Amino acid sequence: MRLDLAIDAVRQASLAAKSVQHDLGRVSELTKDDRSPVTVADFAAQAIVASMLREADASTPLVGEETSAVLRAPENASLLNLVTEAVSAAIGTHTPDDVFTLLDHGGHDATAREYWVLDPVDGTKGFLRGEHFAVALGLVHNGHPTLGVLGCPNLHVGTDQSPEAVDGEGVIVAAEAGQGCATGGMEGSLKPVRRTTCDGMVRVCTSVEAAHTDHTAVDAAMQTLGREWTGVRLDSQAKYGLLARDQADAYLRLPRPGKRYVERIWDHAAGALVAMESGTTVTDIHGKPLDFGHGRGLEHNTGVIAAAPEIHDALLNAVESSA
Ligand code: AMP
Ligand code: MG
Repeated sequence: MRLDLAIDAVRQASLAAKSVQHDLGRVSELTKDDRSPVTVADFAAQAIVASMLREADASTPLVGEETSAVLRAPENASLLNLVTEAVSAAIGTHTPDDVFTLLDHGGHDATAREYWVLDPVDGTKGFLRGEHFAVALGLVHNGHPTLGVLGCPNLHVGTDQSPEAVDGEGVIVAAEAGQGCATGGMEGSLKPVRRTTCDGMVRVCTSVEAAHTDHTAVDAAMQTLGREWTGVRLDSQAKYGLLARDQADAYLRLPRPGKRYVERIWDHAAGALVAMESGTTVTDIHGKPLDFGHGRGLEHNTGVIAAAPEIHDALLNAVESSA
């Protein structure tokens, strides 16, 4: 089954990325660059997923965020070695040339009727801060996600800790269109999850990074909505994972005034599906469904409003009227 394949691939990539994150200091020392750890994790995670998909589902193209260009540059030889090491530790011995081939397998432009789409390390900034990030793999058919798997390596499986806590054992959230959503730890089986009604405090997820969402507009919209609310700030598609796991009621991604940003398909395909399949309504800020049928960008959408169905319309209105 392709969902099992996707879950396996995300698990392997998540564990590899998490171990690079634990090694932040060593990796940046070896490469003399504080940003290298995320690069090692990005490339390794993409190569791992590409290897598993290529072996089991060679005919479906992959759109990955990364390319091999950076690693091919002679000055990045130490980076290439670290990536090769991480890939070999996860899925068996690979050479630098194998790594190039695997990364390039992810070079599709999202024009096929059906494609896999991968963000190998979503939430780069969170990854570098030692906080939340996600490995996100989706399958898109005719512009709609049909499979979605998130690996959130630092989330707690139990729901009694705050979702902002970053010392969790890691969580998988997985969904197939029309089949509901399931979640569990990095090992073992997944159990179905569904949202419950949001009738008390509204738990609202937003980005940590001020450049990625207008936090002032979020505050204004929640004021307009007039419900008691609490903010949950965390990086990556873990926000969609919290909606799916009934640990949050809304995710607002509101563009900053005057800034036109086209969201990337790999930042939303897997996350939007897991949220929708557990009973969350996902649209852009104008109420339009996210449309994955226009290449690598969500060209026909602006921002995201994902929320429990009973508050989604009111949130759309609140965002519009407080803009
Ligand atoms: P988050 O962790 O939810 O804040 O989102 C991380 C993602 O935001 C990254 O994967 C980037 O692709 C994306 N991103 C980069 N710049 C922007 C921007 N100006 N507005 C919205 N998203 C952005
Ligand atoms: Mg991303």
